[in-house]
Amino acid sequence: MRVVLATSNKGKVREIIELLHDREVFPYTDLMEGFEIIEDGNTFKDNALIKARMVYTALGDSDAIVIADDSGISVDALDGAPGIYSARYGGENASDKDNLNKLIDAIKAKGIDGSQAHYTAAIAVVSREGERCVHGWMHGRVITSPRGENGFGYDPMFIPDGYEATLGELGDEVKKGLSHRSKALELAKILIDQIKFLRSHAGIDAIK
Ligand code: IMP
Repeated sequence: MRVVLATSNKGKVREIIELLHDREVFPYTDLMEGFEIIEDGNTFKDNALIKARMVYTALGDSDAIVIADDSGISVDALDGAPGIYSARYGGENASDKDNLNKLIDAIKAKGIDGSQAHYTAAIAVVSREGERCVHGWMHGRVITSPRGENGFGYDPMFIPDGYEATLGELGDEVKKGLSHRSKALELAKILIDQIKFLRSHAGIDAIK
């Protein structure tokens, strides 16, 4: 039974595989040609479901369990921006660095050098049993002087609650214990185990 990730974002793939380390997990691009997925939902949940559904359908493997993450950062001083637009904040083909610089400029344009902020991760789990979505959050603040090389995306400018260092400085191990994605994945693991349990008990499967 394959667990397939509906993402080709290297930072996310690394984190998700690490967090689900005891399972057989593949990015979908290991199994088929990558394709463009239009994320036109209005929420993290909608976009996660769009991605997971498209990959599940494209795979054509009714045994597969597809999980998709949609995530982003919301800055209080910017009324929640960039939110669901985090990946393309700096433009359609923006790099992580472009996005980070745009966010720094937007905060500075408010005449401030930091703000409360939070990351959100929605993880959709799509299989022949149906569709579910779980969420996780990490709260903290963003600063306009990024520090550190670890993590990806906006991590060099994000300081989690309870810390003085940015995620760029703290590194993967600390981030694992705190992150929005870790929290959502803990819940996603429960859903995946539930599916496996149902499939291994023919009597339960038969009444579905
Ligand atoms: P998605 O691939 O549409 O879910 O876009 C998520 C975007 O949000 C990423 O490209 C990053 O810009 C940002 N993001 C989400 N999670 C993280 C994280 O853990 N660290 C840093 N940036 C993140």
